[in-house]
Amino acid sequence: FEKKFNTLKAMIRGSRSLVVLTGAGISTLSGIPDFRSNTGLYAKRWNEYRVEDILSIGFFHAHPELFYEWAKDFWYKLDSYQPNVVHTSLAVLERKGYVQGVFTQNIDMLHKKAGSQKCYELHGSAEHHHCTNCNSYYSYESIAPIVLNGEVPRCRQCGSIIKPDITFYGENLDPLVLAKAYEMFSHSDLTLVLGSSLLVQPAANLPYHSLQNSAPLVIVNKQETGYDRSAILHFSDLQQFGKALETFAESLEERKYRV
Ligand code: NAD
Ligand code: ZN
Repeated sequence: FEKKFNTLKAMIRGSRSLVVLTGAGISTLSGIPDFRSNTGLYAKRWNEYRVEDILSIGFFHAHPELFYEWAKDFWYKLDSYQPNVVHTSLAVLERKGYVQGVFTQNIDMLHKKAGSQKCYELHGSAEHHHCTNCNSYYSYESIAPIVLNGEVPRCRQCGSIIKPDITFYGENLDPLVLAKAYEMFSHSDLTLVLGSSLLVQPAANLPYHSLQNSAPLVIVNKQETGYDRSAILHFSDLQQFGKALETFAESLEERKYRV
């Protein structure tokens, strides 16, 4: 581990455009289950439904009450979780001028809570909500108490169902966020993928754009991914990696000349 991590340190010091892609794996260190680990949310069914189905846009429109009943014990308790060493180290690396962007598939708001400012939420976040009819805006704080009370949140203006700004299966990603991602990944000179199975498109396609730009790819993930053979370095334990990254991030000087 030490030897590999030293190689990575040199790579980070030398990079001018380090871009990071994160997935549900990093938030397992904060106690939030991922999807595809053995203990992940896909491993169990909820009543007779599969989690993939509950998170489909068609299911949401057909059964908003079932969606919110499921989400009650997951998304609407997210404010009780805290960022971990991986989130905070990435925020420190950004503040010191080493990370140019963190693209996350997570909707748990933990990167922002940790202080990342160049954080792009590819699948949206539970922070914002809109009315499915008139598009009125609602915050997490205003919706969570309603959901936790067992009710379906409805618009105060028109009475229609309110939906979190999270990308459901069957929905497109925000085109502005996706365009930013393509731009940054295709111009990166070092790419780090942390805690993602790299199975969900189009996020899973982003490292490919860096590889095309000849940027080295570093993967930190317990399970295999389709990119493992293209990676220059591979680590499997996020906890160990996170601790080492934290020590390294804190030891770095702030960069004088920003890119
Ligand atoms: P995923 O569940 O498909 O993959 C997570 C990966 O992390 C797995 O391959 C697993 O082996 C790895 N992992 C878990 N714990 C680890 C550890 N301690 N050390 C090393 N590796 C570890 O997640 P994904 O690729 O992000 O895709 C899932 C989709 O689910 C995303 O679209 C995301 O929006 C959503 N999701 C989000 C959250 C969240 O916001 N925290 C949680 C669950 C699912
Ligand atoms: Zn409305």
